[in-house]
Amino acid sequence: ATPTAVMVATGVGANHGVLVKGGDALERAKNVKYVIFDKTGTLTQGKATITSTKIFSGIDLGDFLTLVASAEASSEHPLAKAILDYAFHFHFFGKLPSSKDDMKKRKQAIFSQWLLEVADFSALPGRGVQCLISGKKILVGNRSLITENGINIPEDAENFLVDLELNAKTGVLVAYDKKLIGLIGMTDPLKREAVVVVEGLKKMGISPVMVTGDNWRTAQAVAKEVGIEDVRAEVMPAGKADVIRSLQKDGSVVAMVGDGINDSPALAAADVGMAIGAGTDIAIEAADYVLVRNNLEDVITAIDLSRKTFNRIR
Ligand code: ADP
Ligand code: MG
Repeated sequence: ATPTAVMVATGVGANHGVLVKGGDALERAKNVKYVIFDKTGTLTQGKATITSTKIFSGIDLGDFLTLVASAEASSEHPLAKAILDYAFHFHFFGKLPSSKDDMKKRKQAIFSQWLLEVADFSALPGRGVQCLISGKKILVGNRSLITENGINIPEDAENFLVDLELNAKTGVLVAYDKKLIGLIGMTDPLKREAVVVVEGLKKMGISPVMVTGDNWRTAQAVAKEVGIEDVRAEVMPAGKADVIRSLQKDGSVVAMVGDGINDSPALAAADVGMAIGAGTDIAIEAADYVLVRNNLEDVITAIDLSRKTFNRIR
């Protein structure tokens, strides 16, 4: 392709909300053999909602939610955002503002009044968050986070989790002061176009793969819904890049689509990294493409554009 053709293709992409950083990335997309999708926020909407809670140790639901929301207040994770929303609705039910903008303003004003003071906050990609509240450690995240901290997960909690996971839901565990104090069941629906895009890729001779930090049961239930057979679950952020490299071993061209901080090593390792526009800045920086419309159909648009631009007779 001539430099002019590349420029035109870049412009056509931009008009569709597909931003590509350079002609090399544009060209590599034509030979993509695998498209690796992150689950949360990429295949799914990244707008989780809470479906159930289970509380141990006699703590009241309102206090429980205040604790958890306080711990999650600084996280950018979609699950964290959903927890804050739920806590907000719980505490201020019936006082909902009319417009979204108004809602945002009120939320900030109100949150700053009742959230507990948090110290030593850290987000642990692929696991959850931890911080101190009233001098005691709170952990909000998956099983690994809890067990790594030497906290026991009792059998009734484990049963509750498995039940959620078999239904494609994610279980979030909460430990405070070295004890498991509760569980939160969350659901994050698939993006509307996800099934069609996966089907479309298969028709193009491209193999879709799902990679996620979430647990195996949830991952497989979601993969089944979306039509992906090749699933890699319970993968830590560095492990996502390893998945890419293992698929590249036989010379295959591998694309990665992701949205999170935890996806950035994989986005950088892939031959073609595609970041969801609504994703975190770090993911966008690591990627070759930005899908501004947050629509997975644009994965196909990008590959098509590359094929059309570079497979012409020279
Ligand atoms: P994915 O790879 O599907 O995008 P992540 O790697 O972001 O998922 O997260 C993996 C798992 O870690 C989540 O399913 C959740 O159990 C847990 N997790 C990560 N961040 C948080 C958080 N802020 N709050 C609660 N749980 C979290
Ligand atoms: Mg994600």
